[in-house]
Amino acid sequence: MSDSQQQAANQCVSCGIQVAGMNAARFDCPECGTNISRCAKCRKQSNLYECPDCGFRGP
Ligand SMILES: [Zn+2]
Ligand SMILES: [Zn+2]
Repeated sequence: MSDSQQQAANQCVSCGIQVAGMNAARFDCPECGTNISRCAKCRKQSNLYECPDCGFRGP
């Protein structure tokens, strides 16, 4: 319930840029439920994402 967690989720998990205000995809890690964001560019390139919390990798 703290704001700090939300801020951490505003970074693209693949390239690390700030995605606030961008057309970024947001989803929860299937493994641990951590909020993951990915920018439109990385989504287009189908970059793999890696959960910063549990290390889960997915398309
Ligand atoms: Zn990105
Ligand atoms: Zn995870």
